[in-house]
Amino acid sequence: MIDTHCHLEMSPFDGETDAVVQRAHDAGVHKMITIGSSPQSIENAVALAGRYPSVYAAIGIHPHDARLFTPAIYRQIKDLSSNEKVVAIGETGLDYHYKHSPVDIQREVFIRHIALAKETNLPVVIHSREASDDVVSIIKGEGVSSGVLHCFSGDEKMAEAVMASGLYISISGTVTFKNAAALRAVVNTIPDDYLLVETDAPYLAPTPNRGKRNEPAYVTLTARAVADLRGVSYEDIDRITTLNANRLFGLEPARPANGQITYKIRNSLYLNITNRCTNVCTFCVRYQTDFVKGHNLRLSREPSDAEIIESIGTNAAIFDEVVFCGYGEPLMRLDTVINVSRYIKTHGGRVRINTNGLGCLIHKRNILLELSGLVDVISISLNAQDASTYQRLSHPPFEGAYEAVLKFIAGAKDCIPEVTATVVDAPGVDVEKCRQIAAALGAMFRLRHLDVVG
Ligand code: SF4
Repeated sequence: MIDTHCHLEMSPFDGETDAVVQRAHDAGVHKMITIGSSPQSIENAVALAGRYPSVYAAIGIHPHDARLFTPAIYRQIKDLSSNEKVVAIGETGLDYHYKHSPVDIQREVFIRHIALAKETNLPVVIHSREASDDVVSIIKGEGVSSGVLHCFSGDEKMAEAVMASGLYISISGTVTFKNAAALRAVVNTIPDDYLLVETDAPYLAPTPNRGKRNEPAYVTLTARAVADLRGVSYEDIDRITTLNANRLFGLEPARPANGQITYKIRNSLYLNITNRCTNVCTFCVRYQTDFVKGHNLRLSREPSDAEIIESIGTNAAIFDEVVFCGYGEPLMRLDTVINVSRYIKTHGGRVRINTNGLGCLIHKRNILLELSGLVDVISISLNAQDASTYQRLSHPPFEGAYEAVLKFIAGAKDCIPEVTATVVDAPGVDVEKCRQIAAALGAMFRLRHLDVVG
């Protein structure tokens, strides 16, 4: 876990940083970024980063102090930015709530920070309070493409605008506050690839420590709240946000070297046995990223049956289910699915297959009979309410693909105990019609949201 925004250099931590950093480590927070945000605190932040291997620094002038920004401070930030532990420029931005500095000066200083971030090739840490429109306008106008909007308090529209520029959204302990329903709704909409967590310590301690001095160890409370909101595990949020923070701030290791054969989400074990697929779906995540929930799924080669079984181990029964999924169509490798499913069942596991429903066309026979007795659950991508929409969204290589999917769903219930037809809410999909089609075929129905994977 990484606390991407704290202020260890501030006076509430004077004389206590050894203990605070140790408590963070004990809680599983292995890295933290301390944000020097005033003319006095910049040097202190860099000094702290030098003292603790797990502490990194960002340096800039908070919009409150924008009026104090001088050419000398600009040079100071620029000189310090070459320190190897300095990983970002900021925090900078706009704060129209307090207006401790005139807004025109805030804007000018924000733009100077952005220019410096580009010049030094560092991401920019952005503060925005009651200034959403101007912050978004400056981000777009100045072409900011690397950075984070810290302690996010905006609405979904702002989140979308910021992410469209390639920036991350960082969630603080405010998400745990009783009156933060609007923020919690936005947190649910942020794709994994854009999510970070932070404390903003010593401020904004999450519940149940609200009102006390915050510290990096408490970022775990925020991460747990985010995990609950998004219906995943704490470990999932830890993995996702750690990958994102490593990637944004250039911390090591930024990227697992090889695609994984097995990967865990919540308490299910997923199997990534192929990256091949017959279809080219417009919404397919594998065209956007190598990662799902922080796991690298880009295989350098297809694993053998023995390698898959070794990766599963002997504890298949401890998982809620073992799922053939990954970055491709598992039924391209029917024999492997059968062999590995047999192994999982022998070890007390529950088997699910996520499939595009074209297995019978791929193998030119009714393969459902071969899965009978081995597979407990099958999720089949219905994708559309009619053949032309299916063709436009999924680009199958077969004639009659949509009809084959319908037949596969209808036939599955005779061989597999639990059958679900799934749909992604992509443009042009009539979800209600799809729901009715699934019911008519005797299948359950599940709506998946665009950009939410795993
Ligand atoms: S069927 Fe699944 S794996 Fe294949 S392209 Fe479509 S979304 Fe991607």
